Amino acid sequence: MTEPSGAVEAVELLPCPFCGSDETSHGFVNAGMIMGNCECHACNACIWAETEAEAIAAWNTRATPSDQEKRISELEREIIRLHGKLHPAGSAVDLHTMSILERPERSPK
Ligand SMILES: [Zn+2]
Repeated sequence: MTEPSGAVEAVELLPCPFCGSDETSHGFVNAGMIMGNCECHACNACIWAETEAEAIAAWNTRATPSDQEKRISELEREIIRLHGKLHPAGSAVDLHTMSILERPERSPK
């Protein structure tokens, strides 16, 4: 039997990206326009998309650790660049910020 427009069969959702709960579901609403959603019943995180399939794809898409590390490095470089514009090298504020950025667990690889 054909599902109503926008609906998809039951699909395994990854755990909630916010709280890790498996108490998640996907579905759609038709209130003049059909929209799909995925939601977490533990923390109420919710994602909406034009279709249920798009909502599921978005819910199940996760940044990889390498993506996250790359982004962290980009942001750290941006902090240093912007900081350099605000505070001349060697100033007290400059030295404090550099000490934070150079903590061992945050040092560039
Ligand atoms: Zn959750």
